[in-house]
Amino acid sequence: MTRMKSDRDLSGPSELVADIPSLFRNTGVPLNISCEWEPEYIETSYSKANLLELDIALEAVSERVTAIGTLILQWSAQCRRCLDHTIGETKISINEVFEKSASEGETFELPNNEKLDLKPMLTEQVILNLPLTALCSESCSGPSETKFLVSAADDNIGEKKDPRWAILDELQLSDE
Ligand SMILES: [Zn+2]
Repeated sequence: MTRMKSDRDLSGPSELVADIPSLFRNTGVPLNISCEWEPEYIETSYSKANLLELDIALEAVSERVTAIGTLILQWSAQCRRCLDHTIGETKISINEVFEKSASEGETFELPNNEKLDLKPMLTEQVILNLPLTALCSESCSGPSETKFLVSAADDNIGEKKDPRWAILDELQLSDE
């Protein structure tokens, strides 16, 4: 469900690539990074990232680099009830560690070269936080026609279904 193009498309503001030797020359001194990034390629089948506003501090501590701060994700998606285009904003707390021989799923790899590119880490945060089942509003009641059309649109199957299965469909959807 996640589509990513080649590294060539990983262009973004230069602030998103930190100089590792300079971080370790200034151990204990946070490097603040504040910038906006309009990624062209971060999207799921359900939603797309439009703009990221990053405000974090990088700091070298012993052999590691920590990244702490916030990321505001502005996304667009299709409302799962009325299918209208809808937009929203999600605030993500960043609290990550880069280190050599990173542990899968816990820390990020600190590269051997001199450049620490923050974009793969940010991309992962965004993918995890893009909405799977967006709503244009909590009170959206879907299109005015019939309730049946709403549930058909929800599961992308154009056939009549027992409404008792709708609950199961919801559960499966949120498990993805
Ligand atoms: Zn809606």
